[in-house]
Amino acid sequence: ASPRQEKAKPEEETGETARISVLFPLPLPKAYDYLCAAPAPPIGGFVAAPFGPREVTGVVWPSEGDALAPEKMKAISAVFDAPPLSRDVVDFVDWAAAYTMFPKGAVLRMVMRVSDALEGPRMQTAFVKRQEAPDGLRLTSQRKAVLAAAGEAPLSAAELAGAAGVSEGVVRGLADAGALAKVEIDPDPPFVEPDLTRAGHALSEDQQYAAQMIGDVIAEGGHKAVLIDGVTGSGKTEVYFEAAAAALQKDPEAQVLILLPEIALTLPFLSRVEERFGAAPAPWHSDLTGAQRRRTWRRVAEGQARLVVGARSALFLPFKKLRLIVVDEEHDNAYKQEEGVIYHARDLSVARGSLGGFPVVLASATPSLETVVNVDEGRYEAVGLSSRFADAAMPDIALIDMREDPPEAGKWLSPVLVDAVSKNLSVGEQSLLFLNRRGYAPLTLCRRCGHKMTAPGSDTMLVEHRFENRLVCHHTGFSMPKPSACPICNAVDSLAPCGPGVERVAEETKERWPAARIAVLSSDTAPGPGSVRAVLDAMREGDIDILIATQVAAKGHHFPNLTLVGVVDADLGLAGGDLRAAERTYQLLSQVTGRAGRAEKPGRALLQTYQPQAPVLAALASGDRDAFLAAEAAGRSELGFPPYGRLAAITLRSLEEKTLEETARRLRAAAPNAEGVDVLGPARAPIYRLRGMARMRLLVKTRKNVHLQAYLADWLKTVKIPGAVRVSVDINPYSF
Ligand code: ADP
Repeated sequence: ASPRQEKAKPEEETGETARISVLFPLPLPKAYDYLCAAPAPPIGGFVAAPFGPREVTGVVWPSEGDALAPEKMKAISAVFDAPPLSRDVVDFVDWAAAYTMFPKGAVLRMVMRVSDALEGPRMQTAFVKRQEAPDGLRLTSQRKAVLAAAGEAPLSAAELAGAAGVSEGVVRGLADAGALAKVEIDPDPPFVEPDLTRAGHALSEDQQYAAQMIGDVIAEGGHKAVLIDGVTGSGKTEVYFEAAAAALQKDPEAQVLILLPEIALTLPFLSRVEERFGAAPAPWHSDLTGAQRRRTWRRVAEGQARLVVGARSALFLPFKKLRLIVVDEEHDNAYKQEEGVIYHARDLSVARGSLGGFPVVLASATPSLETVVNVDEGRYEAVGLSSRFADAAMPDIALIDMREDPPEAGKWLSPVLVDAVSKNLSVGEQSLLFLNRRGYAPLTLCRRCGHKMTAPGSDTMLVEHRFENRLVCHHTGFSMPKPSACPICNAVDSLAPCGPGVERVAEETKERWPAARIAVLSSDTAPGPGSVRAVLDAMREGDIDILIATQVAAKGHHFPNLTLVGVVDADLGLAGGDLRAAERTYQLLSQVTGRAGRAEKPGRALLQTYQPQAPVLAALASGDRDAFLAAEAAGRSELGFPPYGRLAAITLRSLEEKTLEETARRLRAAAPNAEGVDVLGPARAPIYRLRGMARMRLLVKTRKNVHLQAYLADWLKTVKIPGAVRVSVDINPYSF
C-alpha cells in the first residue's frame, strides 16, 4: 500500500470539501487551517500540507476556532495511511505545551521524532540459502564464505556481506546465479507478545500486599498515582512487574510503559523483563540505531508493541492505547530534560495518566519531597516495602570526620577508609570507592600566575582527563590536548591539577594496593552502555576487587560480593545554592551505600566528610529518612519553595552583554504586581557565559494558589524582546 494517498486535494474529488486544522512539528504555538477532501482525516491523522515555501508533515489538530476565510485557505497535499495519534496523545501535547510554556509544535516534534516511520513498511530484500546449489555454480572462496553465512533465516545483502567479509556485489551475484533465494521482509519485525500465562517470583507478604493494592487500582480503572516506597533491594521491581501484567491482562490492547532514568540501566533491565514476560520489551533511548527507533515508534503507534521500556522521551511515543506508566527511581534528576522543551518526565507522566484515565506507579527508595508531600496530602496513594527481600540487611553507615582523620598530603583516602579497604581485600570481598566526578582533576591551575583553565567562550572549568591526556569541558563538550605551558603567562610545566576525580583516586588506589584488581567506571572511561555493562558484569562476576566509580555504578545494580562502599567526598553535592542539593545528596548517597551487602553478606559504608554535623549526613548515618524529609519540608515550606509554592526561572541569553542586561532590567520592571508573587533578580546565571552566550536569570516564586503559567504569559507578552536576546522559561527549575 502506498503510504500517501494523493487524493487529498478537494478539487480532485467530487467537490466535497472539509476544513481541518493542522499542527506542524515546528516551534509554532498553534495549528493552521486547511481544506481537504471530505471526509476529512480524523484528529490525530498525519497529513502533508504546504507551509511557507515547503511541504511539511503535520497532524490534524482540534480546531481553535479562528478559522481563515475559505478563499484564503490552502489545501493539504496528502494524507498518510498511518495510524492516527490517539486522542490522549493529542490532548497530552496540548497539556504539556500549556504547562511547560513551550509552543505546541515544539512538543509535537518530540512525538514525531521518527518521521520516516510514517512512510509505512518499506519491504526489504533479504536472502536465504537454496536447498540445492544450481548446476555449474562457479565457487570462489568469497562465494563459499557467503554460502556458509547464509541459512534459512533471511539476511540482508549488507548482513551477509558483513558476515562473510565480502562486498555486497558477491551476495547479489550469488542470487543472480540462483544459489540464494530472494525474499521480501518487513524491516521492522513485530515485537514478541508478552506471555501473560507466565508467573513471576512467588512474592513475599509485603510484596503481595503491594501488588494486590495496585492490582485493585488497575481493576477499578481510572487515574490514580501510587508510590511504591521501599529500600533498594526490597523487591519493588517485582511488584510493578505484577502491575504491568495486570494492566496487560485486563485489556488485550493495553500498552504499558516503564520509564527508567538512565540508558546505562536499560540493558540489564531489558533482560530482566524478558525473563519475566518471555519477551523482550520495545526499547526507547538515545543509543538506539535509526532502524531500532523506527521499529519501536511504528510498532508502538500500531499498538503492536505492548510493553515498552525507555528513558524519559519514551513518554512522547505515539501510544495507541497506553494504560499504565511505571516511573522507576521517580526521584531521579535524569527525568528532568533541560534542553529543548524543558520538562520533568515524572510530573508529565502523572499528567499523562490523568488525561488518559489510567494509573501511574512511581517507585523509589528515596522518593522526592514533591511525591512525599503529594502522598501526605492525599493526592497519591502509597504502599511500602519495609525490608530487603529475603532479609538481606541494610548496610551499616558511618561518617569519617576528615578533620580528625585526614589523608596524607596529596592523597584522598583517609587512614580509616584505607584500613577498611585493606581488610576487605584480605577476606576476598569487593569494595566500591564512589566519587561523583569524572576525569583526573576538576580544576587545572597555573601555579605561577593563578590562571584557571576554562573552556573558550564559557565560564566553565576544563577537567583534566589523564587517560586521554586532554582537558575537557563537561558542559560544552569542548576538549583540547593538555598544554605544556600556561596559555597566559607561558610558564612551562606550571599547570597543576587541583582536587580529585575518579582517575586520580584510581591512581592512589593502584599505588596502595598494587596487587589488587582495580577498575574505573564512569561514563567516559567506559563510553557507551555496552562497555559500562562489561565492567558491571566483571564486578558482578567477582573479577574486580576495587571499583572506583561515579554515579553510573550507583543505580540498580546487584553485586553479591560487594561489602564495602567508601564515599570519597560526601560533601561534593552540598556546595552551591541549589534548592535540592541536600535532597539530591541524600538520594544519591542512599543509593550508592545501598550497593553494599545486597546478598547474604552484610555490608557497610564509610562516608568521608568535612561537615559531619550537616543534617543530611547525620540522617544518612542514622538511617532516619523521615527526620531528614521533615527538616527538608520545614525549610522549603518556610521559604515558600516547591512543593509548597511554585517556581519558574526565566533565562535570557545573548551574545551582546549590554542588550542582555538592558532587556533583563526592562523585563523585570514590567513584571505585573500580583498578590502572592515574588520576582527575584535579574542576576547572572551560575555559569554566566556558556558557548559565547552571556546568560541572566529571573526567578519567579509564587504561592501555590497562583496560576504561574498565566501570570508569566501575561507578563511576557507585554515586553518586546530584541532579536539578539533569547528567552526561555523553565517551570519548576532544578538547576539554578
Ligand atoms: P528493588 O526494585 O526494590 O530494588 P528488586 O525487585 O530489584 O528490588 O529485588 C531485589 C532482588 O531480589 C532482585 O535480585 C530480585 O530478583 C530479588 N527478588 C525480589 N523479589 C523476589 C521474590 N519474590 N522472589 C525471588 N526473588 C526476588
